Amino acid sequence: MKCNDCVRICPVGIDIKEGLSTSCIACAECIDACWLKSSKRNLPPFPNYKGKIIRPKTFWLAGTTAASALVVVLLFAMRPPVEFTLSRVQEPLPAGLNRYAFTISNNTSEPLDLKIEAPEGTTLIGEHAVSIKPFGETRSKVLIKAEGKRDTVTLTLKGDGISISREAGFL
Ligand code: SF4
Repeated sequence: MKCNDCVRICPVGIDIKEGLSTSCIACAECIDACWLKSSKRNLPPFPNYKGKIIRPKTFWLAGTTAASALVVVLLFAMRPPVEFTLSRVQEPLPAGLNRYAFTISNNTSEPLDLKIEAPEGTTLIGEHAVSIKPFGETRSKVLIKAEGKRDTVTLTLKGDGISISREAGFL
């Protein structure tokens, strides 16, 4: 008599013996049902059935996963305590005046009080002081007014033992 245990147990009501189906949710209930019957006759429930969780594939998959996790942890641990990015905003402004967008990320568990400094011969217009919560980020913009012609401007982020300089173009 034909066994239909796999069909009876299937939660989506398909007969896997008729071939693969897109309705299959890979729950493996049919394999367990088949194994209960076939193991009594010392037969595998399907041709490539190994019946073991621990096999070579398990080790290389676990090793790859552990190595990936280690890389993620190392990348996280090697992040600088503060990240500072600066870019010139492309917009028409009077000569000698440029706007800059900046982002500051605090990768530490302590709040940071920092300030942005502009080089000699320039005036920074906007908020100089920045307070960032632990693991927080702040984005803002400042204007730089320069006396005389220059091609670049370097802004420096200082405070709490931190000094990071970033250069951007100046038109
Ligand atoms: S794996 Fe689950 S859903 Fe797919 S055929 Fe077997 S019992 Fe049905």
